[in-house]
This record gives sequence, structure tokens and C-alpha cells, in this order.
Amino acid sequence: MMYALLFLIALQPGQKLGIISAMDIELALIKQDMQVEATDTINSRIFDIGTINEIPCVCVKAGIGKVNAAITAQLLIHKYDVAAIIFTGVAGGIDPLLDIGDIVISKKVVHHDYGQIVLDTFVPWDTMGFAADSSLVAIAVKAAGSVEFEEVPKKICKETGHYPQATVGTIATGDQFISSEEKRKWIEAIFHAACVEMEGAAVAQVCAVNNIPFVIIRSLSDLANEKADVEFELFAEYAAQTSNLIVREMLKIMKE
Ligand code: SAH
Repeated sequence: MMYALLFLIALQPGQKLGIISAMDIELALIKQDMQVEATDTINSRIFDIGTINEIPCVCVKAGIGKVNAAITAQLLIHKYDVAAIIFTGVAGGIDPLLDIGDIVISKKVVHHDYGQIVLDTFVPWDTMGFAADSSLVAIAVKAAGSVEFEEVPKKICKETGHYPQATVGTIATGDQFISSEEKRKWIEAIFHAACVEMEGAAVAQVCAVNNIPFVIIRSLSDLANEKADVEFELFAEYAAQTSNLIVREMLKIMKE
């Protein structure tokens, strides 16, 4: 058996792994590792088809937000028959114990902006969320344990000897860039989320209805508070690279 993945998520020979990001900076390093064999453009999306570590993959930038993510995930499933989807990207921190550069591996993903307005109160409807594939989560956890991270840069953490930490938790998704401490606290209180982003639950929902395993990997570019705009600009590239390191390592583990 060539791939550990064969046992773990039943990837049959010839079946492909889908890798999605929202932005170029997130997909860039993964694509550097890729032997591209063909490129298709469908619905304004560029699908690179090839191999990473000899594992057949299709890599694509979805664009930002839930609709973009859903369109892209469904195309990956329908047109490329991917056996699993990994999302790699950046997010805003919700759990106050997490810092910029830290990594969140999805246990489940929820829509935080889907629900009902009662008087002036928003009542969320997606309280259950969508569970990530436990084998892919296990591979991501193993990857986080074996990546040799560089020290977190001084501009992010003044202490020396600080390395990115990985956690498995809930990811909250909405069509909103969260830069509000009040809203951060609300998402923490209601969903007990580790981080917030704008695509994960859409990918998760599409995967759920198609019965396709998925995992979302995110590294924190900001802490979803009033400084988030500035921090995103400063740290998104660093966080995107950190998330990429995990996915890169996952693909090594899958090949073992
Ligand atoms: N000005 C940027 C905006 C990017 S939106 C641009 O035009 O490129 C932020 C992206 O990073 C989304 O894909 C989202 O998934 C993620 N993200 C990072 N921090 C976030 C936050 N605080 N709230 C919501 N999404 C966040």
C-alpha cells in the first residue's frame, strides 16, 4: 500500500486530494511543492492538477468568503472526484490563550452568522456544526508534532524560545472579517471556538452533503479584535506559511 492515506481515508489509487485556500499567500508554498501536470480554469477558478510527494492533488484558490468556498469545494468533488479536502489558511484568534502564529486544526466547524434575529438579538441556528474527519485530524496533529518550526518572530512575540502551538478545536465561520473584541467574546461564549474565519464551514457543509472527509488547518494572523486589520496586514503571510508547514508535513505523513 503506497499511502497511509489509503487506510485512513480510503483514497483509492488514482483518486486525488483537494487542497483549497482563500488567498494566494495561503496556497503559494504548497504550490511550490507541487509537480503540476495540468491546469484548468472553471468558473474563474484555476485548478492545478498534479502531485505533491507523489500524492495526486488538485490545488485551488477559492477566493474569500463562504460562497466562493462552497462553489470551489463542490467543483473539486464533482469535476475532480477528490477523495478528501484539506483547507489551509489564516484566521483570527478567538480563544484568548492562543497567539498570532498558533495553529488550529478543526475538530468541527460552525457557521456563526447563520440564524435568526429576535427583537435585537441574533440567535444562531448552527449549533452542532460539521465534524472534521478524525483520521485527517490525527494526521494534522501528528504533523504539528513533527514540524520543526522556527521561533516566532520578535515582532510577534518579544520572548525568545516561543514556537507556534497547535490546538484541535472548533472553528467558527462567517461572511465577516471580525475586528471587534465584543464580537470575539460573543463567538467565544456561544461557540467555544478557537478561531474565526470566512470559509471553513462552507467547505465543511459541502463535504458533509457529499460524504467527503475534510479538515481545516488555520494559523492565526490576528486576534479578531480592534487591531485585527493592522495585524492581518503584518502577519497574514507569516501565518499562511505556518499553516502551509502543517499541510506539507501532512502530505509527508500520508506518504509514509
Ligand atoms: N484585506 C484582506 C482581507 C482578507 S479577509 C484582503 O482583501 O485580502 C481575511 C481572510 O483571512 C479570510 O479568508 C478569512 O478566512 C481569514 N481571516 C483572518 N482573520 C480573520 C478575522 N479576524 N475574521 C474573519 N476572517 C479572518
